[in-house]
Amino acid sequence: MTIETSGKHPIPPGFGDALVQPGDYARMYAESISDPDGFWGREGRRLDWIHPYSRVKNTDFAMGQVSVKWFEDGILNASVNCIDRHLPGRANQAAIIFEPDDPDQPARHITYAELSEKVNRFANVLLSQGVMRGDRVVIYLPMIPEAAYAMLACARIGAIHSIVFAGFSPDALANRINDSGAKLVITADTAPRGGRKTALKSNTDAALLHCSDRVRCLVVRHTGDQTSWIDGRDVDVLAMMEQVSPDCPPRPMNAEDPLFILYTSGSTGKPKGVVHSTAGYLLYAAMTHQYVFDYKDGDIFWCTADVGWVTGHSYIVYGPLANGATTLMFEGVPTWPDAGRFWAVCEKHGVNQFYTAPTAIRALMGQGPEWVEKHDLSSLRVLGTVGEPINPEAWVWYDRHVGKGRCPIVDTWWQTETGGHMITSLPGAIEAKPGSATLPFFGVRPVVLDASSGAVQEGDGVEGVLCIADSWPGQMRTVWGDHQRFMETYFQQYPGYYFTGDGCRRDEDGYYWITGRVDDVINVSGHRMGTAEVESALVAHEKVAEAAVVGYPHPLKGQGIYAYVTLMNGVEPSDELRADLEKWVRTEIGPIAKPDLIQWAPGLPKTRSGKIMRRILRKIAEDDFGALGDISTLADPGVVDQLIENRMNRH
Ligand code: ATP
Ligand code: MG
Repeated sequence: MTIETSGKHPIPPGFGDALVQPGDYARMYAESISDPDGFWGREGRRLDWIHPYSRVKNTDFAMGQVSVKWFEDGILNASVNCIDRHLPGRANQAAIIFEPDDPDQPARHITYAELSEKVNRFANVLLSQGVMRGDRVVIYLPMIPEAAYAMLACARIGAIHSIVFAGFSPDALANRINDSGAKLVITADTAPRGGRKTALKSNTDAALLHCSDRVRCLVVRHTGDQTSWIDGRDVDVLAMMEQVSPDCPPRPMNAEDPLFILYTSGSTGKPKGVVHSTAGYLLYAAMTHQYVFDYKDGDIFWCTADVGWVTGHSYIVYGPLANGATTLMFEGVPTWPDAGRFWAVCEKHGVNQFYTAPTAIRALMGQGPEWVEKHDLSSLRVLGTVGEPINPEAWVWYDRHVGKGRCPIVDTWWQTETGGHMITSLPGAIEAKPGSATLPFFGVRPVVLDASSGAVQEGDGVEGVLCIADSWPGQMRTVWGDHQRFMETYFQQYPGYYFTGDGCRRDEDGYYWITGRVDDVINVSGHRMGTAEVESALVAHEKVAEAAVVGYPHPLKGQGIYAYVTLMNGVEPSDELRADLEKWVRTEIGPIAKPDLIQWAPGLPKTRSGKIMRRILRKIAEDDFGALGDISTLADPGVVDQLIENRMNRH
């Protein structure tokens, strides 16, 4: 199927009362850029302040003096903004709906009153363990309400949390505990996911062998499974919560105090400890959550990400709770007990906004639309995607089968570093184009630079490196313990600009298309090509489930196109199919994009958040198997050996 992607997709009917109307967008955007102090000064009042700010924006991207401060003299507490201020009006409204892994177990509705009590008690447990303002606390928990309690409890006492995804290995956990200098780690006994259990407590025990013996361990007894126990180090947190006071006064924090550290997913190299601020981050998460999903009072919001990723921080916990929303937290996986689980959960809880990743959409698409059709999805109003460029094939499937053509799709481009959405459509205001993240959010100034000269590409119909010309409140403030790395990674390459690491195209309508990481751009006989485009063409073929494309040294062309292709279930690889795919890409994009080598790949190396690690694929394509770099964040390291073996067998 070839999909027409150049045209705009009209806003479906029923969005006449959207928070941002078509005319508003241009006006609000223009104001946010021409008068940031006025615009953000007003928006800053979304938060409750203990002492209001007198200064709004104090930022500088100039070479050698990069500095980012927002609302710098304001004093507030993030947990008050997510809990206490909602109590007068929403004590009995569900703050969190918890849907457990096992669909036969009952869901839990945690009201704002209950959330308040749990967080206060949890905070008092942390205090009792000697955790103080500014101390780091590592959270290694599955998708259970206690993860949110732990985050907000840290925020309440001014401790800095750092969540480590529960799927990570003991090694990855130990590295993050040590890098952040954490005093305490919070984990659970075991974690069920897709009907299988991960032994989190034993992983933590293994990790702590490599950490200072002063690190304490709080254990949430979630499943009740037997675990080892070290007296004096391990604490049963739920039992302790019963013994401490249900009141913990919030610690007044400066706007610029760190709220959390989060290590990036690591698809390009050693994970960086991204530091986010209290006020700027919270405000930006709240505002984007409201506008981008057109969130209205009473809506049930579901972001399927894990709290271990920034998406879970901003759009499961901080954004929704700052807005007094009801946020759904799902412990399970999309394909268990069957491929209809997402849709069953949407139906069961009457989900209004649904936010997921292209990789999940593609996986479910491969299972066939009948899994979607079984469920009543009439409550859905807005759909979202995040994590990588969505191929138009998957976009159209999402729109047709999940949204039934009546739900706008917001394709949200952003990063761990940006704290919240940066380029995205708005449900009632910006018409989508399948595969494009569309237009910048308020206050965001994207620029397209020529990759080698750094020259600003003016006007529309241009392509290059995506940078941001000025600060926004949700911007990261530093790399934990390595401010030099912060400056080098983001501000050195293109002086005066924040460098995103992504390539993009701005089309004739001023819409942005993310073409993938700059590192992933291939130069074939002088033609620069984003890998996303070739991959998108390959997966549009009916026999292809997934594809990853990288460049490799080619004697004539400079770089050749190397494609790793995963076939649909039941399809056998053959030389005919290989020839067919080459022809297919030629016709879809052009002769220049024809893959030089196609390697059949039963699986692709992915991060735990489902992103393809092209860095590793590049090494394999170059026959450089010795220097694969940090693979600690891989979901399944076994895939790599398999790919290396297939690669060697080609010769
Ligand atoms: P690391 O920085 O450690 O290599 P990472 O970049 O994968 O890891 P994230 O911050 O989770 O870590 O991902 C941000 C990146 O994901 C963006 O820079 C972009 O490449 C990609 N991305 C996210 N959302 C979109 C989107 N809607 N469209 C296209 N690409 C996206
Ligand atoms: Mg990144």
